[in-house]
Amino acid sequence: MTINFLLNGLIPLHILFHATEGEIYGQEMLDELRHHGYRISPSTLYPMLHRLEERGYLMAREERTGKVMRRYYKATRKGHEALQQAKPQIKELFSEIIGGGSI
Ligand SMILES: [Zn+2]
Repeated sequence: MTINFLLNGLIPLHILFHATEGEIYGQEMLDELRHHGYRISPSTLYPMLHRLEERGYLMAREERTGKVMRRYYKATRKGHEALQQAKPQIKELFSEIIGGGSI
């Protein structure tokens, strides 16, 4: 049994968080998320990056590194604001789940 379906919901916020800290790219985020214990494949991650970009939370630029064309993402102003807005709810959810109830 897999709980990926549940955990995948946390990934866009995780991506957005790192994209507010600096530029990110796909492979780097895959490594980062795997490091955090998420079992994520490129076919899950790349559409997420794309949707975040499409909705205006991330902006992308492309840069050639050797033979590889790499797409770098960073949070837009809207992305920064969205993360700020989401923080109270994230905090509340986490303290409910982790803290076992009231905050
Ligand atoms: Zn992280």
